[in-house]
Amino acid sequence: MKTIIEPFRIKSVEPIRMTTRAEREAKLRDAHYNLFALHSDDVLIDLLTDSGTGAMSAEQWAAVMRGDESYAGSPSYYRFRDSVQDLMPFEHIIPTHQGRAAEAILMSIYGGAGKHIPNNTHFDTTRGNIEASGAEAYDLVIAEGKDPSSLHPFKGNMDLERLEAFLNEYGDSVPIVMLTITNNAGGGQPVSLGNIQAVAELAHRFGKPFIIDGCRFSENAYFIKQREEGQQDRSIKNIVRDCFRAADGMTMSAKKDAFGNIGGWIAFNDDSVAEQARVRLIQTEGFPTYGGLAGRDLEALAQGLHEIVDEDYLKYRIRTNEYIIEKLDALGIPVVKPAGGHAVFVDAKRWLPHIDPLSYPAHTVACRLYEIGGIRSCEIGTVMFGRETDGSEKPAAMELVRLAFPRRTYTQSHADYVVEAFALLDKEKDSLKGFRITKEPKMMRHFTCQFAPLDD
Ligand SMILES: *Cc1c(COP(=O)(O)O)cnc(C)c1O
Repeated sequence: MKTIIEPFRIKSVEPIRMTTRAEREAKLRDAHYNLFALHSDDVLIDLLTDSGTGAMSAEQWAAVMRGDESYAGSPSYYRFRDSVQDLMPFEHIIPTHQGRAAEAILMSIYGGAGKHIPNNTHFDTTRGNIEASGAEAYDLVIAEGKDPSSLHPFKGNMDLERLEAFLNEYGDSVPIVMLTITNNAGGGQPVSLGNIQAVAELAHRFGKPFIIDGCRFSENAYFIKQREEGQQDRSIKNIVRDCFRAADGMTMSAKKDAFGNIGGWIAFNDDSVAEQARVRLIQTEGFPTYGGLAGRDLEALAQGLHEIVDEDYLKYRIRTNEYIIEKLDALGIPVVKPAGGHAVFVDAKRWLPHIDPLSYPAHTVACRLYEIGGIRSCEIGTVMFGRETDGSEKPAAMELVRLAFPRRTYTQSHADYVVEAFALLDKEKDSLKGFRITKEPKMMRHFTCQFAPLDD
């Protein structure tokens, strides 16, 4: 059969409240043209993020009822730990309430002034935690990873030459080497198993612990199976195990590839490092057998980890992005290729060259997409990155519109609807003029700033 179906039936539904274009235009005006300020029930298809927004399975909801809320030593913790260790063979598995809490603990151990920490690309919370500790964060992804038109199969790979030069240059001031799979900030692009193992080898040669940010480990393993030589006949589970066997520890947001609405963990092999992490955990998150989560959350994650390595699910998931990218490509709309794991990226700079970057072309697309179809996407461009610390404004390297897909939440007709909205937008795009910012906070302006359309 050629048709790839959603590999699930639907038992419980959430109605989408239909709205008209006129209503949406009014809602967006009231929100001062910031999509973060919308009420989510005024959104028809919400592609703002894939974090914590997925649908849990019937088995996960059943597991929620089994949750044991004992403060210490809950059987729910042990089921969670065993599920993690089945995929990631680390000695110590420590739950946290989210990925960034795991990062904060990691940096309480390894961060600090004068330290230098490399990664393929640090996710923004990782960078934030590193910088808050006084250390500096470095992105050493291969050059192809920054070129939207490169078709390299593993655009998330670490540049091994640059990493080696980095380790030679910074020596003792490098506490750990990190690697993010998939490379979220670089478009959800995968890292090959060969590259993971080579980074581990290099880190160990220099005597550095190697820590994986594993948020989308299962999508990454699926790409390895599809694209890396010699991996085609292996199970996703075995590929995942090989990825983590190379590492000394990991951080995780369970809101991504653990099918959780909340949760995370940090893991280590080293006893004394784990001891330090647990002391910190007790101060900031909770006792080591719950770490800021309810017993029922731990149960949902334990079950989610069994489901996330299912190949039929992964095939449907990755195919959704490829399908949309093929359709947008056929319409002549520039997209980042090849498809990443969790999102589709539209290149607004190439699509709307008549809008100056300082008039926010990607933001302009995101706003009009909402007005046309009620679809919420996310600008990754000058609104997000353009404000310099000295107060000046500079165009970002890229003007992208990200459509991030919640897991198991939308179907093919939703994907077709998104494509149709883009086709309509393509007809209107030449009349779009861009925006100016009328009010902005001192930092992280994209969440709360306000806009006015330039044609007003
Ligand atoms: C989401 C994410 C994080 C942070 O996790 P939260 O659960 O949102 O705190 C860290 N790294 C990567 C790669 C992520 O995608």
